[in-house]
Amino acid sequence: MKKAIFLITCLLLGQAFVAQPAGTTSNDETQVYICTGPSSKRYHRTSTCKGLVKCSKEEKKVTKSYAESKGKTPCKMCYKRK
Ligand SMILES: [Zn+2]
Repeated sequence: MKKAIFLITCLLLGQAFVAQPAGTTSNDETQVYICTGPSSKRYHRTSTCKGLVKCSKEEKKVTKSYAESKGKTPCKMCYKRK
């Protein structure tokens, strides 16, 4: 019986670790802008980006993790490296 309790405790501790990620970027709450048009595949850092102005449909403010979950990739104009 003691073994079972030990195993359950391990499982609970394991879940606690999963629930508290230290510095991971898998759930990024940064706000980004996406276009709801069917051809849009990018997300933008600002709502004034030239790539977003071309949007044929609505602009939408979402979290970065949501945008990435929808298969969006960072806009090259907003996220270009310096
Ligand atoms: Zn952009």
